[in-house]
Parts: sequence; C-alpha cells; structure tokens
Amino acid sequence: MDLIRPFVTTWSLVLGLAFSLGCQSVSTQAPELDNAVSQTRAMLRAEGSHPVEPFRVIGNIYYVGATAISAHLIETRDGLILLDTGTREMSAGLLANIEKLGFRPQDIKIILSSHAHWDHVEGHAAMQKRTGARVMALGEDAIAITRGIDNSAADAPDWEPIGVDRTLKDGDTVTLGEVTLRAHLTSGHTKGCTTWTMTVQEDDQEHLVVFVGGTSINRGVRLLGNTRHPGIEDNYAQTFRTLKQIQADVFLSQHPHLHGMAEKRIQMEAGAPQNPFIDPEGYQEFVAEEEAKFVAQSERERAESRSD
Ligand SMILES: [Zn+2]
Repeated sequence: MDLIRPFVTTWSLVLGLAFSLGCQSVSTQAPELDNAVSQTRAMLRAEGSHPVEPFRVIGNIYYVGATAISAHLIETRDGLILLDTGTREMSAGLLANIEKLGFRPQDIKIILSSHAHWDHVEGHAAMQKRTGARVMALGEDAIAITRGIDNSAADAPDWEPIGVDRTLKDGDTVTLGEVTLRAHLTSGHTKGCTTWTMTVQEDDQEHLVVFVGGTSINRGVRLLGNTRHPGIEDNYAQTFRTLKQIQADVFLSQHPHLHGMAEKRIQMEAGAPQNPFIDPEGYQEFVAEEEAKFVAQSERERAESRSD
C-alpha cells in the first residue's frame, strides 16, 4: 500500500476521502482509521486490480500491471524479469497482459519486488509456480515473502508463502542477459523496501531508470516508539537521502498514479516529441514532496509527545 497522490481513475474520490482523514492523531481516530484502511484495501482488490492495456514504457521496459498497482516486465536476450506480481486478483490479467505483448510467461526467469506488502507480492506464489522463475528479494522483505507474513509497521494482510531463491542486500545487482538491475535499500515503508535502478537505451541515448519501492507512511503507522519496526524514523530519513542521490531520468514506481502513468501514456500516444516517462524533475519533485510529508509527521508526533 502506498496511496497518497490523487488518482485519475473514477475511484479517486473514495480513496481521496480515505486519505484525507489521516491528519489527526491516530490514537483518537482508531475506528475511522480502520474504516479507511479497509476501504482502501477493498478498492485495491477490486477496481485497483483491474488490468490496464499493456504497453511499452521505454526501451525494453513494459507495463503489464493494473489500474492502481504496478507490474513491470523487462525484456532481455535471455528471458524476462518481472518486477512485482500484485494482488491475487491481478494474476489472470497479468498473465494475459504479458501474452498480449507477445511474450511467454514461461520465459520469466526472475521475479523481483518493490516491497513486501500483499498488494505487490501476493501473486508471487502463483506466478512462480506458473513460470519456474527464481524469486529474489532484499533482506527483511525476503524473510516476509518466504514466511508469507507481513513484517512491516503497517501490519497488513499476509499471503501465500513462497521460497526466495536469492536474498539480496543493499547495493547488490541482478543480471539477466544484457540487463543489470541494482537494488537500493529504501527501508521504512517495509523493512526491506527496494528501489531498483537500471539503464535503458532509447533513440541512441542511455537513460537511468528508477523504480521507486515505496515512500509513504501507511495510515496508523507511528514513527516514534514503533515496536513493529524499531528505527523506522531513521530508516525513512536514510531512504530520502538515498532517493535524492539517484540521478534518474526515467521515473517509475510501484503504484502508477505516483509517477503519473496515465497522463504520460496519453502524451506518449499523442506523439510527444520526447518519451514523457523521461522525467528527472518529476522524480526529484516526488521525492521532495514525500520527504516533506515524512518530516511533517515526524514533527507532529514530537509535538504530541511533548504535550502529553
Ligand atoms: Zn505498500
């Protein structure tokens, strides 16, 4: 879960309402909070899991995911890499989208994840069984995926366990064919939340691509004294330092509205002179906005703890 920016889909109002309730002290808002969280989860399982028409984003990167949850497919000469499998409701649409683009699911050799929350890894088990792909994940996210148990501060729903074939650490690379992805630990949203980078070629130019792993603070999660994720505040602070240092040209993320996918796709199809997903300013602005929200919550919690 990482739903914080306005949606362009018809259900934006419901989610917008759910998230607008998040400004007050959590301790006095528990019933409202539960309601908003369950509403968001229900939407992610329903309309949010509907497949969008798949398309080539840039170079050898394709979008095969849903309206509110990303899944990116990376083509290499030695097979395919799938980044995120989404909810179980997404599985059939995901497979259909891969085939629609002319790819074969059995050519998926590696399954990666943005972060170990149900809405990004719940489909791992089915997809792994369908393809025989190797599952790779970072640190504590690898533990969560293997156990099928959410270990993040959000205490979100669990999923079917699936073995992780390779556990990565910060800075490790994953190579298939001519493509190498680098894993950047961006902990906070989950403990092993992973931002991936790679380069693509388009129009004889090389571009650095970022797939943001997750930056938001889920509703109800506290930064101070968090016993489910000790050190979460420091982890988020480090995450924003890491993200700001990535000089990405191409901005992609784990929920399509975060990187304005629908609007950029329309621009692309209307014949924009440059691929609209090349958006270095948009990426840095997004990171700055997310960091500002983190700092605001941190300050609010400190102020509350002083007035207690
Ligand atoms: Zn999440």
